[in-house]
Amino acid sequence: SSVPTINLNDRHSIPQLGFGVFLVDPAEAERIVTDALQAGYRHIDTAAIYGNEEGVGAAIAKSGIARDELFITTKLWNTDQGTQSAHDAIDRSLEKLGLDHVDLYLIHWPTPERDLYVETWRALEQIKADGRTRSIGVSNFLREHLDRILAETDTVPAVDQIELHPALQSRELTSFAHSKGIAIEAWGPLGQGKYPLFDEPAVADAASAHGKTPAQVVIRWHLQHGNIVFPKSNHAERIAQNIDVFDFELTRDEMGAIDALERNGRVDKHPNEFN
Ligand code: NAD
Repeated sequence: SSVPTINLNDRHSIPQLGFGVFLVDPAEAERIVTDALQAGYRHIDTAAIYGNEEGVGAAIAKSGIARDELFITTKLWNTDQGTQSAHDAIDRSLEKLGLDHVDLYLIHWPTPERDLYVETWRALEQIKADGRTRSIGVSNFLREHLDRILAETDTVPAVDQIELHPALQSRELTSFAHSKGIAIEAWGPLGQGKYPLFDEPAVADAASAHGKTPAQVVIRWHLQHGNIVFPKSNHAERIAQNIDVFDFELTRDEMGAIDALERNGRVDKHPNEFN
């Protein structure tokens, strides 16, 4: 496929563009993920809390695509933090997915009030060692949470999956992560449609200049910044559109104009407020 891969710090690699299934109705997940696989996506981002791992697994099984051509991520939910509960949680996720391993397993939120994420990270190290996941990472971790993982454990997360789009670029966190070899996955890459990003002249003008859609321009902006992205859509036409982004390149000026859309515009809770 034309999707480039990013090398992770553990010698595995990840397709830079995938398909996310947050808010994909469990009853429709099999059909929607089937559409994504048919459109050429080979990287799927789900989570235990999304409730749709079974549908994702059914689509994978039905596709006939070889397991080693797929990159599957799932995430450990907040209430499953802790040693034994983490081991149980990955087993439940694998069972629902119908897989013997995932490619990437993430702690979904740090939930610092629980003060369990370091212990949970050590459980993920074990889950990686025994082959139930190839890579391990974190999500919604701020600098202070990464600092504890780096100081108190032996494994640098392969990725930090954070809210990131033109209105919230988290540049300090992103450059710190990169300096430690942690790849950045951008969730909500299109701002979840909560900001009128597509109407911004910086986005709309680049779209008309290249004969692409505003969504394609924003996805391209992420890719050119080195972010791993997995935009979500329920519609086959948009699913196909969002992976059709490898036949054009944004200029320096177009990139800079989109960079200027930073406005600290978070679409969800601050990570320290999420429990
Ligand atoms: P997104 O930014 O991908 O926005 C999705 C929305 O954008 C769609 O519902 C649709 O309204 C619109 N859209 C998509 N394609 C379009 C197109 N071509 N044209 C016009 N509109 C279009 O938001 P998201 O789904 O929240 O983020 C992507 C993925 O990131 C999720 O599915 C999930 O896998 C992951 N995620 C992770 C976390 C986390 O806490 N780790 C949180 C949210 C999302």
